[in-house]
Amino acid sequence: MPPSSLYIHVPFCRHRCGYCDFNTYANQQSLIEPYVDALCKEIALAGSFYAGKHQVHTIYFGGGTPSLLTSSQLAFILETIHRVFNVIFPVEITLEANPGTLTRAYLGELMALGINRLSLGVQSVHPGELRILERQHDYFDVLNAVKWARQAGIMNLNLDLIFGLPEQVLSSWQRSLCLATGLAPEHLSIYSLTIEQDTPFGYWLVHGLLSQPDPDQAADMYEWAMDLLAEKGWQQYEISNWARKDENGSLFSCHHNLQYWRNLPYLGFGAGAHGYIEQVRTENVLSPAAYIKRFKDHLTTSGSVFPNTPATLSTTLVDRDTEIAETMMMGLRLVEEGVSEQAFAVRFGESLDALFHEPIARLTAHGLVEWLHLETDRRLRLTPRGRLLGNQVFVEFI
Ligand code: SF4
Repeated sequence: MPPSSLYIHVPFCRHRCGYCDFNTYANQQSLIEPYVDALCKEIALAGSFYAGKHQVHTIYFGGGTPSLLTSSQLAFILETIHRVFNVIFPVEITLEANPGTLTRAYLGELMALGINRLSLGVQSVHPGELRILERQHDYFDVLNAVKWARQAGIMNLNLDLIFGLPEQVLSSWQRSLCLATGLAPEHLSIYSLTIEQDTPFGYWLVHGLLSQPDPDQAADMYEWAMDLLAEKGWQQYEISNWARKDENGSLFSCHHNLQYWRNLPYLGFGAGAHGYIEQVRTENVLSPAAYIKRFKDHLTTSGSVFPNTPATLSTTLVDRDTEIAETMMMGLRLVEEGVSEQAFAVRFGESLDALFHEPIARLTAHGLVEWLHLETDRRLRLTPRGRLLGNQVFVEFI
């Protein structure tokens, strides 16, 4: 049985950025302490059901802004996890952080806790673009954060960047990406801005206060990034993710996110967290206050039978057809690895080609997918053109 992953959601930010549609809240830092207590209760409860059956190989603190937690609060959560779960080594432990929230001492404390991967939300190096995005940091905060992370001994660093911003020109994106690669991170995540309706950006767009980003220009930016990063020796392993290799030739890919893309099990803890375990998708209550209250009251909406906890808002049984569709959609995002014909047959008892003969033939004819032939396996994956038109490919497998 493959090992599992744990996701811990930290739904607090100092300020809510105008484009953000994550489950996160500003001005609620006073809830952090009781929230951490509730988190540890949820983790302990899940561990009592789950730990005997499965091992854990990745832990991910996402948000929101997990770096708003003190090192003692993070230590409390990690101690709980190690106490109740069967964590195997080496374990990848990632913490997402906003550059403006870090200090040299804090990064040293993270390292001492075993947090060995840091993901920094850089987004842009330009003050004007950061202002439009309503980010609370500047590029000098990024420089300091990277320097301090290295001094603390963190040797697996991701930088997040966003392209396709309103009014952004290609040269501005080029400068952001060049300066980011110049900081020599091990990993880069590059996302195109999508403006969601229920955000300030969505409102401003509808009311003519923000210009719609040009999708053609965003595609040019993405293609330029693919070319530049390939030229500099980066390996693109997922539609939006690139990694460098270590001295032994292993890729610094994010093992936690690989778990999602390979459609493998993970548990989600915290307000609004999602999980996927034993063929069930779970979703927790969104509001941090409600989440805390549920653990205070031991209120159960659906009985605490695993994978339900007092925080569970809904559970959905994943049937075989859905699991197949999700395995294809997520697996094809892995642009190098793709979907293994052999692993697919073992998992579903049917061949990929038998189930999807027509869509594969059609997409191959259009130059959007290809077979990679290995000695003992074949892998279906996106072509470089398919990477630009991923959504059109994925719908063929639903
Ligand atoms: S810092 Fe990140 S999670 Fe928080 S509001 Fe901004 S974009 Fe959203």
